[in-house]
Amino acid sequence: MTTLYEYAFAKLNLTLDVLGKRDDGYHDLKSVMQTISIRDDIEIDIGTGQPWCLKCDKEDIPTDERNLAWKAAKVYLDAMGKDADGLEIRITKRIPSGAGMGGGSADAAAVLRALNRHYGDPLSIYALAELGARVGSDVPFCTIGGTAMAEGRGERLRKLPDMPDCFFVVCKPEFSVSTPELYRKLDETAIAKRPDNTAMESAILAGDIEKVSQNLINVFDPVVTADHLELNYIKSIFNAYGSIGQQMTGSGSAVFAIVTEFEFAAVICNMLKGNYPQVFIAKPV
Ligand code: ATP
Repeated sequence: MTTLYEYAFAKLNLTLDVLGKRDDGYHDLKSVMQTISIRDDIEIDIGTGQPWCLKCDKEDIPTDERNLAWKAAKVYLDAMGKDADGLEIRITKRIPSGAGMGGGSADAAAVLRALNRHYGDPLSIYALAELGARVGSDVPFCTIGGTAMAEGRGERLRKLPDMPDCFFVVCKPEFSVSTPELYRKLDETAIAKRPDNTAMESAILAGDIEKVSQNLINVFDPVVTADHLELNYIKSIFNAYGSIGQQMTGSGSAVFAIVTEFEFAAVICNMLKGNYPQVFIAKPV
């Protein structure tokens, strides 16, 4: 039996545009995505000789074939024609669920990378990401990580240079958002402000954190904020204590701020943690 270890980093959407509904019912997206240092830890025992099992230290996460980490292992082994002779997957969960931080996708991507390494890297990282699209829309990006432009359902990826160094403060309020309902609401509303992905890409290329911060736009943000005004409260705290840009990530409900100094991040955390236990400081990774 061999034990594999892999980190599963959360993601943030620096921009998120919804371009339209496709014939297959999915929406076409365009998003600049970034992995951050908030992470789950994945351990995989391979060759246990026992039926597959999955353990997670957080109670509300499924521990069967519904778990995206389990799905990813199945997709990889089936695609590669391998028999692992029993797997045990253990997840130490730190990424909040229902946050828009891609927690399940990050775990799935970590499983893909760990298994591919175990078998001698037969797939390139891009081929692995392509396989990840069978598990979920955010899995391809989580597989390659770093800074990237994602298009289509998230499966068309273009790696960008690393975003400029900064600190993120990420705050996950209690409520979660139903993603299908959010798409329905978005389809019914005229999108007032779309991100300028070209400007975001230029800001990243130039290493200009001020411009990156000015170009944060997520089309879901105003839709969720209209129903949950507390997002404005969190953003006002961000603003008051040194944030140079803030917005919601993915379909929410987590919101994040960009700050340039750790001290600002620490103060924002202190100001929020009484009302919001799920507040984190992170770096781009
Ligand atoms: P996204 O950014 O992709 O929208 P999310 O923030 O909504 O992600 P996830 O952490 O991916 O949140 O969890 C969403 C749901 O997926 C959970 O409620 C859980 O039932 C299910 N799920 C399946 N596998 C996992 C996993 N490995 N970790 C967390 N949740 C998982």
